[in-house]
Amino acid sequence: MAGSADFDLYRPSEEHDMLRDAVRSLAEAKIAPYAAAVDEEARFPQEALDALTANDLHAVHVPEEYGGAGADALATVIVIEEVARACASSSLIPAVNKLGSLPVILSGSEELKKKYMTPLAKGDGMFSYCLSEPDAGSDAAGMKTRAVRDGDFWVLNGVKRWITNAGVSEYYTVMAVTDPDKRSKGISAFVVEKSDEGVSFGAPEKKLGIKGSPTREVYLDNVRIPADRMIGAEGTGFATAMKTLDHTRITIAAQALGIAQGALDYAKGYVKERKQFGKPIADFQGIQFMLADMAMKIEAARQLTYAAAAKSQRGDSDLTFQGAAAKCFASDVAMEVTTDAVQLLGGYGYTRDYPVERMMRDAKITQIYEGTNQVQRIVMARNLP
Ligand SMILES: Cc1cc2nc3c(=O)[nH]c(=O)nc-3n(C[C@H](O)[C@H](O)[C@H](O)COP(=O)(O)OP(=O)(O)OC[C@H]3O[C@@H](n4cnc5c(N)ncnc54)[C@H](O)[C@@H]3O)c2cc1C
Repeated sequence: MAGSADFDLYRPSEEHDMLRDAVRSLAEAKIAPYAAAVDEEARFPQEALDALTANDLHAVHVPEEYGGAGADALATVIVIEEVARACASSSLIPAVNKLGSLPVILSGSEELKKKYMTPLAKGDGMFSYCLSEPDAGSDAAGMKTRAVRDGDFWVLNGVKRWITNAGVSEYYTVMAVTDPDKRSKGISAFVVEKSDEGVSFGAPEKKLGIKGSPTREVYLDNVRIPADRMIGAEGTGFATAMKTLDHTRITIAAQALGIAQGALDYAKGYVKERKQFGKPIADFQGIQFMLADMAMKIEAARQLTYAAAAKSQRGDSDLTFQGAAAKCFASDVAMEVTTDAVQLLGGYGYTRDYPVERMMRDAKITQIYEGTNQVQRIVMARNLP
C-alpha cells in the first residue's frame, strides 16, 4: 500500500496508479454487476462488502500497527473514487469506515485504538459516525443527545438521525452533550457498540439515491457504557468531529469524482454507438463540446481533491479550507456531469435501463452530506487562504 511520503502535491505515485488499476478491475468484476439491482431493490451491497473485505479494501486507512493496510489519504481517495465509479452506494463502505473510525484514530487512547481498529481492519465490524440529529443538522452543535456520568460509566440518551450504515455497522462514534452550558465545548465523543443494551435502529430511509447504503436513525435509550469508551478528553468531542470532517470531506469529493467519471465513461461509449441523422451522434460538435466540458470539470475536481488529500496526509494548516473546497467543487461537478450524461443519452438516459439516471440521483447526496454545500461555503469563508 502506498506510503505517506511518496507522492507530491498533485501527482499520484506509481504505487497509487497500480492501486487504481487493481481497484478498477475489482469494481468492474465484483461490484458493477450488482449496482443496478442494489439500487432497484434498495438493498445493502453485500457483494461489494465481501469483495472489498477479501481484498483488504474495506477500510484501507487503518494504520498497519492495528493490522490495517496503512493507506495514505490519496490511496484512500483512489479506492473510494474507483468504487464509486461503479457503485456509489458501495463506495460508502470504505468512506464511512474512515468517517466513523477517524475520531478514534485522531483523538482516542491507545487502548481504544487497539480495541476498535483491529476488528475494523480485519473486516469483523464496520464503523458509523453519529453527529446529526432530527433538529441538529447544519447546526450540529445544537444536538440534544445527552451523556451523563454515573461512576465508572456514562449513560447515553437521545436520537441520532441519517446515520449511514446504521444497523450494519458494529461500532458507532457518537457525539453527545456532557455539559449543556458549554455548547460545542460541552460535547464529548464515545464509541458505542451495536450490541450495547439500549441501542436500536429506525426504519431505513426511503431515499432519492445511494439506495444501497442504509440510512437509519440510531436510538440510544439509557445506554450504559464504560467511561474508557470516551474518545479523548471530556468536552473535546465536537472539535474531534470537526477535525474528522476536515479529512473525510475529501473522501466525499472522491465519491463525487468517481460518480462523475462513471457517467462520463458511460456517455462516451454511448455517443459512439447511437446514430441519428445517419451518423454517430459523437460526430456532432454540440455533443463533443459537452463531453469536453464534462472531462475538463472532472479533471479540475480531481486535481483539487488529490491536492486536498496530500494536505490531509501532511496535516497542512489550510486543510479546513481545502477539504471543504474539494468536497463542494467536486460534488457540484458530479451533479453537472451526471445531468449532462443523462442529456447525452436522450430519452434512454431518463430510464432505469441505463445507469446514468442512477448516477445523477446518487450524485445529489454529495452536495448534502458531511455538511451541505452552503455549509462548505461558510467553512471556506471562515478559513480563506
Ligand atoms: C443519505 C444521508 C446520509 C447521511 N449520513 C450521515 C452520517 O452517517 N452521520 C451523520 O452524522 N449525518 C449524516 N447525514 C446528515 C447530513 O450531514 C445532514 O443532512 C446535513 O448536514 C444537513 O443537515 P439537515 O439535513 O438537518 O439540513 P438543514 O441543516 O435543516 O438545512 C436545510 C437547508 O438550509 C441550509 N442552511 C442551513 N443553515 C444555513 C446557513 N447558516 N446558511 C445558509 N444555508 C443554510 C442547508 O444548506 C440546507 O440547504 C446524512 C444525510 C443523508 C441525507
